[in-house]
Amino acid sequence: MSPALQPFGFPLPEGSYRPDVPTPDRVLGFPFGERPITPEEAFHYLEALAQASPRIRLETYGRTFEGRPLRLAWVSTPENLARLETWQRRWRDLWNPVQVRREDLDAWLSEGLPLLVWFGFSIHGNEHSSTEAALALAYFLVASERAEVQQVLERVVLVIDPVQNPDGRSRFVQHVRAQMGRQPDESPWATEHTEEWPSGRFNHFLYDLNRDWLFQTQVESQARVAAYVRHPPQVFVDFHEMGRDETYFFPPPTRPIIPWLPPTLRTWWERFGQANARAFEQKGWRYFTREWFDTYYPGYGDSFPALNGAIGMTYEQASARGVRVRRSDGTVLTLADAIAHHWTTAWTTLQTAAEHRADILRDFFQSRTANLQTTEDVWGWLVPADADPFLRQRLLERLRRMGVEVYTVSKPVALTARDPYFGTQGSRSDVRPGDWLIPLQQAQRLLLKAWLAREVPMDPEFLATVREQRELREEPGFYDITGWSLPLAWNLRVVELTGRPDRSLLQSVPADRPDSTDSTFRRATYAYVVCNRTLGVYGAAASALERRFPFYVNRKPLHLGSNRCPPGSLIFFVAQEPAEFGPWMETWARWLGPALLALDSGWTTDGISLSSPQTAFVPSDKRIVLLVGPGTRPDSVGALWHTLEVVYGFPITRVRTDMVASMDWSDVGVLIVADVSPQVLKRLWGDETVQRLKLWIEDGGALVAIGSGAVWASETGLMKVEWGPEKKTDEAKTPQKPPPLADVPGALLRVRLENRHFWMGGYETPDIAVFYEGNRIARPDPETAFVVARFAPADRLAASGFVWDDTKEALAGTAYAWYVGLGRGQIFAISSHPMFRGDYWGTHRFVLNALLWGLAR
Ligand SMILES: [Zn+2]
Repeated sequence: MSPALQPFGFPLPEGSYRPDVPTPDRVLGFPFGERPITPEEAFHYLEALAQASPRIRLETYGRTFEGRPLRLAWVSTPENLARLETWQRRWRDLWNPVQVRREDLDAWLSEGLPLLVWFGFSIHGNEHSSTEAALALAYFLVASERAEVQQVLERVVLVIDPVQNPDGRSRFVQHVRAQMGRQPDESPWATEHTEEWPSGRFNHFLYDLNRDWLFQTQVESQARVAAYVRHPPQVFVDFHEMGRDETYFFPPPTRPIIPWLPPTLRTWWERFGQANARAFEQKGWRYFTREWFDTYYPGYGDSFPALNGAIGMTYEQASARGVRVRRSDGTVLTLADAIAHHWTTAWTTLQTAAEHRADILRDFFQSRTANLQTTEDVWGWLVPADADPFLRQRLLERLRRMGVEVYTVSKPVALTARDPYFGTQGSRSDVRPGDWLIPLQQAQRLLLKAWLAREVPMDPEFLATVREQRELREEPGFYDITGWSLPLAWNLRVVELTGRPDRSLLQSVPADRPDSTDSTFRRATYAYVVCNRTLGVYGAAASALERRFPFYVNRKPLHLGSNRCPPGSLIFFVAQEPAEFGPWMETWARWLGPALLALDSGWTTDGISLSSPQTAFVPSDKRIVLLVGPGTRPDSVGALWHTLEVVYGFPITRVRTDMVASMDWSDVGVLIVADVSPQVLKRLWGDETVQRLKLWIEDGGALVAIGSGAVWASETGLMKVEWGPEKKTDEAKTPQKPPPLADVPGALLRVRLENRHFWMGGYETPDIAVFYEGNRIARPDPETAFVVARFAPADRLAASGFVWDDTKEALAGTAYAWYVGLGRGQIFAISSHPMFRGDYWGTHRFVLNALLWGLAR
């Protein structure tokens, strides 16, 4: 074979291509771009490239829940790939430059240290053209004999993550291929363009992985950030798709932008953006910048790399959601067009990066070094040793994964401190051995601030814009949520230290130490009580249910010697348990720490007895059903599914909305209805199904109604709630009526708890912060409902994030969560998602306690 000018049906730049490098057509067995390719086909093709050329090497960095590999392709010159381990060490050293001086970097630059550019593709599985573009790019870089390609690869090592969400993409590709006829259908209404619930956007557990970089709840994210930290890039591009009527987007992004990011980032955004614009203009293609896609929420595939010092960028192409689709203006958008556009920005980005190799590496080093040198008012954070061990362990895992240094002290020391989160702690903290100190002055300074600071300041010009938009009755331009501050979201009593501890007192907390205190397990002769003082209680409860170990829960506090165990503690009687119970309890002891009490007597010192009528048995033969399917929001139900089943271990039966009418309810203990469309349920279910549900509740069932699930429950008459927003009375007096109550874009709001109620068991303080989005205002009927959590007064409502002033007034004092008894059954209603995106651990108990009490009898 002779070198081909156009090796396959894709418009690559003309030139000579190595004939021994296989084209996608040849390996895949169909013309490239004729149909979307599966993750397996993408990896298969990259393997063929790796066999044919020393310019590419593959690495497997993880596995999805469905068992698909997560893989990276390393592309560069054979010389660079031969030295990859050295380069990786250098990039890691620059990212955490404790030992690196400017002269070292100069030496490394003259030694030829290349730039690491990381391209992520198709993190939203149905935004598919970017994976095809990744293959075309890999072919081009590996097969082209152009001098220009050689020059770029000498300066750049490219790491390609071709399928960031293999399970979601697989779902999408299966759909398109199953629905395609002989010819691609251009009608946007054709089944091949209209996915069924839940769509390929999400991963297996229905998480949006382009929001999960911050919380790292999913195996894909955990594996990816671990790979990221092993070799941190200086340029990171995340390739997406948007609606079919759009054109193409690349940075600069829109406001708001995390204000702490280095100012050089904006210069680089301009430079890469202008290079992309020139490349597009040469071909006569359309594009836009600046109007969408902010860099404020730190969990995207651009903001998260930016907090790690990279030039983080999102590129967005209009989607054919299949092979060909007609747009509103009558033109036809093809998969091939989309691939060509992504290919063009990808190649242009590589050229731009190569051209500025030394400057980008210098800026990267400088911004990382600044993290080590900058002193701020706050020295760092203190996580007390007596905080929930379950949460401490979770926090430590997250910090360690990202290379954060955590210390403790060798002897007690008093330091000045402040509590911007709950405002309840004093201005001084006694720091003791076992407490954790997280200094701000370290390489991950910016990421730590994004996780732990009370708030990320929002650009005043952006705020002026959204206010104007609202006045003009336009949609205010918030792109995502605005409040995620970890101490508030987790209800973890962390303080900011303003005093500086003597460095000689600090000892590093080892990475692998389990957090529980080294409590020696003592066998009980009569009973064990797991005090509801840690979220670990729920893991133990789920595990006991799975093994059918009988246990009880208490509705009122149990006074056992000096211990006061709140409602929702677990009571196991030794005489009732099988032989394998003892070893099981011993295993759990190290996770539960002091929350586990081993009793030789059931005598209580005050209040209720261990076998009081105020305790209830929790049977293991009842199901927990989560309503999923058409009419529910995939990421909402996904967060409940993953958190309850994977994190805590409760088996969750998921039932589709269209199956409820015909299902057998006899073994169901709890039904969770979250973020559902009441209209869809009305259409699907009819009165008869609702009547059956009502009888099921009255007969002892428990309904957990979350968000619009609570609206549905009130519309069907299961409970009485007056819903806002209501109109203001003085509207008529103003010439221009105030705009309707706008959505809170997702913020942390303060609520006051009614701790005496058994549902709130485990909350030790009356004030916590809850995640809230939208503008739903609930006033449950006071005759039949008991409000367990109420929004704080307007002046102290917003704990973190943006809330409109009139929404504060409207929400103040209204209900966040309320309890309704119905016959022998119960309704647990919560107005906004308590397990949003699998984080916000501070409100997990709202669901977990409801499950225990829903199952109990
Ligand atoms: Zn996307």
